[in-house]
Amino acid sequence: MSQGFSTACLHGFKDFTTNKAHVLPIFASSSFMFDDLDHGISIFTKVEPGHVYSRYNNPTIQTVADKIAQLETLGTGVEASAFLTSSGMSAIYIVMQSLLKPGDTLLAQKKLYGGTTELFQKSLAPNGILILSMDLSNLVAVEEVLKNDNSIKAIYLETPSNPTLDIVDIGAIASIAKTFNVQTVVDNTFPTPYLQQPFLYGVDHIIHSTTKYLNGHGNSIAGAIVSRHNEWMQTTVWTQLKLIGATCNPFDAWLLYNGLKTLALRMDRHSSNAMAIAALLESHPEVGNVYYPGLKSNKGHDIASVQMPRGFGGMLSFELSRHLPAVKSFLKNIRLATQAPTLGDVDTLIMHPATSSHLNIPEEDRIREGVTDGLLRMSIGVEDTSDLLKDIQQALDKINPSIS
Ligand SMILES: *Cc1c(COP(=O)(O)O)cnc(C)c1O
Repeated sequence: MSQGFSTACLHGFKDFTTNKAHVLPIFASSSFMFDDLDHGISIFTKVEPGHVYSRYNNPTIQTVADKIAQLETLGTGVEASAFLTSSGMSAIYIVMQSLLKPGDTLLAQKKLYGGTTELFQKSLAPNGILILSMDLSNLVAVEEVLKNDNSIKAIYLETPSNPTLDIVDIGAIASIAKTFNVQTVVDNTFPTPYLQQPFLYGVDHIIHSTTKYLNGHGNSIAGAIVSRHNEWMQTTVWTQLKLIGATCNPFDAWLLYNGLKTLALRMDRHSSNAMAIAALLESHPEVGNVYYPGLKSNKGHDIASVQMPRGFGGMLSFELSRHLPAVKSFLKNIRLATQAPTLGDVDTLIMHPATSSHLNIPEEDRIREGVTDGLLRMSIGVEDTSDLLKDIQQALDKINPSIS
């Protein structure tokens, strides 16, 4: 049949069904076609597997989500399913919104990623969900609170936590939660499943900001929801995800796919570099507190050694004793750490929480949380260990001992 130019531009592209690509293709297609009416109906009604519309799901996105579910469950005997979301924040929101209803209380760890605390206060609380924050390392207090308040339906935690790397005993919290029929949600962004598998301890749901270590290269924003409640995932969570439209996009999923391949290698190097740097910091006269769960002096070390058997990750923070003037000097002289408000990239990053993530928190509160003016948080990269050590040493040595 002869065609006009416009028609020829649009049609006859359909022969792309080869399936032998070695690397996962980016399915940049908003929709997927049906052979005929019956085929469409059976896919829409989930009688037959298939894709409909990329806000619902997409082959690139689902392949990567399935991989994360596999890594979180590997060797645990747990079966879980996963979805990728547009960000870590939307993953947290969708899970909490799917778990809780107005009148329910969420028991949240006191120290969390700043955005998470803000999300609970500004998005969940106005929806009628009560937020109760407490130190989850006090197990007796946690048990007491659960005993006295049966409106608590979920516990949310993060370990190691931002920015002082506090450790929560996941197994202890999950088992107390179970006695009171309360669901547990763990943000596993900092350790990744290579260093810590919350499902081993009976946790119900895991969320990730894949923006950080899972991607590892700082080139995409995305999140993941992983849950052992498979039926609930395919009904409640999937419905929320597709209706709110917080689905990931194929390109960001594909960037994440590339990063995941080297996760184990990267986490090993992040951990060994951070361990060496923590030891150097601990021995330097200009440094006060060093927060790294790998240090024997750290209060969470014993628990972390059990629940993070392969290493303690790449995040650490430390205090410069001469506070702001020392921080300014250190930041001016450090060469191999970039000042940027993210973490988990392959290169070393540094951040001053008091003037960034904690800027809007009252001074008294942030100091009580350990976020003093002298605190610096580092995301240690995979550079050569000796180069990082030399660089940090010279930046510390240049702090003028006459400032304060
Ligand atoms: C970054 C981060 C988040 C939020 O993730 P986004 O991808 O930025 O939305 C949540 N939790 C932790 C621990 C994070 O580091």
